[in-house]
Amino acid sequence: MADANQEPKSAQLQLWDEPAAPVVQLADAEGYERRQSRAVAQCPSCRRKAASVAEDARMRADMRVLWLHPDPAAPDGVREAFHCQHCQPRGPVGDTECARCPEEGPLLAEEFAADSAAGKVPAAVAEWLAGRGWHLANGALLCPNHHQG
Ligand SMILES: [Zn+2]
Ligand SMILES: [Zn+2]
Repeated sequence: MADANQEPKSAQLQLWDEPAAPVVQLADAEGYERRQSRAVAQCPSCRRKAASVAEDARMRADMRVLWLHPDPAAPDGVREAFHCQHCQPRGPVGDTECARCPEEGPLLAEEFAADSAAGKVPAAVAEWLAGRGWHLANGALLCPNHHQG
């Protein structure tokens, strides 16, 4: 306490030097499109249409999340899909996330989920991610923002 009381003014000044919290601008977010009217959300996988305003909002959020399924018929063995709450895979789910920022890649379904762990993804998924600018090295997955730098 004795030390703290010797320099009360400098401590006070340091407090006031704290920068103000940054203001987050949401209105001009990239890709935002204002529309007068719009169709009801529909799931491209199971064709279910949203039955309420709440489900419509939920389904639009779900349609921004890409899933990767194993696909022996595809050239690289990966099938891309979007799922609503009703048709999303019930089994284990794997996720891909940048080691340096909150950027998230696709969710992994079926064997892809079973074969993934922290910093480890199946070879077909690694190839898919690499084709989109992601980088996997030494167990750390980096999003395109960090791979370029
Ligand atoms: Zn669906
Ligand atoms: Zn990142």
